[in-house]
Amino acid sequence: MKILVNGIQSNLRFSSAHVIPGHESCGFIHGHSYFVDVEIEGERAGEFEFVVDFKDVKKYTKAICDELDHRLLIPVFNDLIEFKEFDKNKDSIFDLKEQKSIYFKIEEKGYTIPSVDCVLLPLPYTSAEELSKFFAETLAKKLSETYDNLDSVSVCVNEGIGQGALYRKDL
Ligand SMILES: [Zn+2]
Repeated sequence: MKILVNGIQSNLRFSSAHVIPGHESCGFIHGHSYFVDVEIEGERAGEFEFVVDFKDVKKYTKAICDELDHRLLIPVFNDLIEFKEFDKNKDSIFDLKEQKSIYFKIEEKGYTIPSVDCVLLPLPYTSAEELSKFFAETLAKKLSETYDNLDSVSVCVNEGIGQGALYRKDL
């Protein structure tokens, strides 16, 4: 059986800035009011014969939204982003997080952003495609700590109404 959680109606939203390095129009820092829909498939189980408790799905998804909300999302593993004093092939992302400001270049443009204004993500892009994969994998990992009856966790990250990317993580 499948359960569905609607992001707009369940308030699974976040507003963030991002940039898609090298893209003609999305290569400038801009923002979206995202919302996140979740679908979970699995066997019904436990005392109440739930697939999964809606409360858990909403709580864990909201926690990821809150982590990204009102921040600039930086994809650390993007090939066009060059960080100062940080080698993405060698150094830990946790070291970068500890710097007071994040210095980076995208082609000819240089940026200095206070660390507290950023979220550093271990991703090549902060597209809807990569964010949906990030959400599905993080949520699946969290739910697997307490559920062993789930077959898949799918997450659609919508960049506003009418466009989103859906990623399905099989368990
Ligand atoms: Zn965008």
